[in-house]
Amino acid sequence: MFDDLQELYQQVILDHSKSPRNFRRIEGATRIAQGHNPLCGDNLTLYLVMDGDVIRDVSFVGDGCAISKASASILTETIKGKTKAEVEELFEKVRTMVTTGEMSGSNLGKLAVFAGVHKFPARVKCAILSWHAVKAAVAGEAAPVSTE
Ligand code: ZN
Repeated sequence: MFDDLQELYQQVILDHSKSPRNFRRIEGATRIAQGHNPLCGDNLTLYLVMDGDVIRDVSFVGDGCAISKASASILTETIKGKTKAEVEELFEKVRTMVTTGEMSGSNLGKLAVFAGVHKFPARVKCAILSWHAVKAAVAGEAAPVSTE
């Protein structure tokens, strides 16, 4: 059963890395944030349209490994319509999950596919990269974020 779940998670990650959702630039984005993970060579740019504290639209472009692209793709599906505070709360849950595997009481939905990443410390930064970028974006920090 556990192996089946792992396989399903891998299929979701592969699907999102091969066909990333919301993979485009947004003309008229109100926030743009870049994420760079030099250890793996992941480079992502996130585009957000914010209306007050609410994320009306979000997209990304860039290149990277399967985990970084799938993470950004699922992130864009997850945070549309959420508020800045909700994104910051999700960031903490995702960070806890990918560093420890702990998900107690967290309704992370599809993000749970990254729970196994904690067993591969070198890939944690790949999974969290887009979350660092979006956290900077909603906070209004213009400087590129790096996982270093
Ligand atoms: Zn990577």
